[in-house]
Amino acid sequence: MEKICVAVRVRPPVTQESFNGTFWNIDDNRISLHKSSGTPISGVAFTFDHVFDQSCPNSRVYELLTKDIINAAVEGFNGTVFAYGQTSSGKTFTMNGSENNPGIIHRAVKDVFDMITKHDEREFLIRVSYMEIYNEEINDLLMVNNQKLQIHESLERGVFVAGLREEIVSEAEQVHKLLEAGEVNRHFGETNMNVRSSRSHTIFRMVIESKTKEMDGSSSDAIRVSALNLVDLAGSERIAKTGADGVRLKEGKHINKSLMVLGNVINKLSEGAKQRGHIPYRDSKLTRILQFSLGGNAKTSIICTVAPEEVHVEETRGTLQFANRAK
Ligand code: ADP
Ligand code: MG
Repeated sequence: MEKICVAVRVRPPVTQESFNGTFWNIDDNRISLHKSSGTPISGVAFTFDHVFDQSCPNSRVYELLTKDIINAAVEGFNGTVFAYGQTSSGKTFTMNGSENNPGIIHRAVKDVFDMITKHDEREFLIRVSYMEIYNEEINDLLMVNNQKLQIHESLERGVFVAGLREEIVSEAEQVHKLLEAGEVNRHFGETNMNVRSSRSHTIFRMVIESKTKEMDGSSSDAIRVSALNLVDLAGSERIAKTGADGVRLKEGKHINKSLMVLGNVINKLSEGAKQRGHIPYRDSKLTRILQFSLGGNAKTSIICTVAPEEVHVEETRGTLQFANRAK
């Protein structure tokens, strides 16, 4: 079983608040809460594989948490990278980035194509899909229709989303266009973009298939197939804070449930083979879809994004506790 790599990333402050009660202190791979006097608050200190402060660029996050997973995916191993955190803590900044500051997805796509050109003894077939899970319903972000997709399982294909569009791609630019189209579809018909985007999980998936080139017609080895999943999770904030009407509440429950199930699955996996027992993959769509890309010899990283502001201190603690259970 591969160890799950867990990191925390603190974004720059967006509000100019004066710190009068507490602040988060980062010291190497340790993050702790302190009183403004500098005294540490006991019991609120955590260590992770990495803790990134606000000056850390996407390139470094990518190098330390994703690069190895991309390498392994090209070699035939499944892998998953998650961004977890409350809304506006930097998940999408980390996964998608911006034009001038590409995030993990764009860097991963570029590296996959760079890496496969160096493997000239093998031929590759790359397919991408992009889906959203909203209210425990799966939407295809590469299709304009509103059809809800179902999860199936078969001997040949394992767990799969039936009818999900998989686009064969041969260069990074093609993938970027698909991602852009996916973003447009994601918000199609939405009155409030932020509500939905903060409440849905998106899974960008690359399926990498390869086999040795047959120069002389001799029989080749088995085909390698691996899935690389780059996941921007729904906001982890508690529902109480969003409050409001029935619709919101329903959404909130689902999000809490699937993030909770994810936490349980990851927690079980990180406990090690002996204690593990039953792993509740089937308890949510998200973990079901990712079942074969979490655990076993799949490689996983989790980037937990947090806000530094004092108003968010409770949500930040919640995120750090989630991260701590994943170690
Ligand atoms: P989320 O996807 O978690 O809701 P976003 O990624 O949209 O949050 O981030 C909220 C805002 O903060 C955006 O304007 C984003 O550009 C900015 N931001 C987030 N993380 C960073 C960072 N590490 N460095 C600079 N700006 C950031
Ligand atoms: Mg976002």
